[in-house]
Amino acid sequence: MQKVSILANDRVFVLTGAGVSAESGIQTFRDSDGLWAGYRIEDVCTPDAWEASPARVWDFYSARREAAFKAEPNPGHFALAELEQWLGERFFLCTQNVDDLHERAGSERLVHMHGELAMARCEDDCGQPPVSDRTIYKSLTAVGRCSCGARMRPHIVFFGEMPLEMGKIQREIDRSTLMMVIGTSGSVYPAANFVRWARQKGARTVYIGPEAPQNAESFSEIVLGKAGQVLPGLFQVEG
Ligand code: NAD
Ligand code: ZN
Repeated sequence: MQKVSILANDRVFVLTGAGVSAESGIQTFRDSDGLWAGYRIEDVCTPDAWEASPARVWDFYSARREAAFKAEPNPGHFALAELEQWLGERFFLCTQNVDDLHERAGSERLVHMHGELAMARCEDDCGQPPVSDRTIYKSLTAVGRCSCGARMRPHIVFFGEMPLEMGKIQREIDRSTLMMVIGTSGSVYPAANFVRWARQKGARTVYIGPEAPQNAESFSEIVLGKAGQVLPGLFQVEG
């Protein structure tokens, strides 16, 4: 069985995408033919969509919440949490996923670059921090208002918006010596560029997923297989 060796002085940066949650029963974006659970992305996942119809956007994210809250972490999530236990602060996880399955498996050193389903924030970015919000909204009138009076929106990075925590992510990439990318198609930027940045700094780069990603040429190694089947037992921690 193929192994990924982690050396005593390695710093590991992991980027995960929708594929990591696929075996937990959460539909990926790519495997849905451009339609995501019956919605066109541009109708529900862009700043224009929010302007045009906040009710439809909340409808969509309420349905995503319902699916994600029912799902359970799979062996792939647990294997990454275990790797973090071994490596401590030499480990960093950046996920594009908006579900909380990594946390529920025990991951702690992680950022959600595309936001989090279980949170909401002010649509005007007035300076109030995001708040916990797990409501499945049935109508727009139930959606709360910020103290500034603006409507609360999902704490999700829409297409065309700047991902979160980019400064921290950049610093972690710069000091990593091993980048592992798992279950992401390599088509959403800037995440698809992380492997190139890591490579320029001399890091080893490994992709794990059932098919080669669109940026396959940037990886020094590709491990073909499903995350939940391949990740447990994949890492050989040395030193
Ligand atoms: P994507 O849907 O574009 O690609 C999914 C990738 O996962 C594909 O490359 C596919 O080969 C791979 N895959 C499928 N089953 C897998 C498995 N069992 N193990 C490992 N890999 C598997 O997803 P993306 O690249 O993450 O980008 C889409 C965007 O949509 C992201 O920005 C993300 O925020 C969002 N999204 C999030 C969720 C979630 O939070 N769970 C779900 C869908 C989409
Ligand atoms: Zn506000």
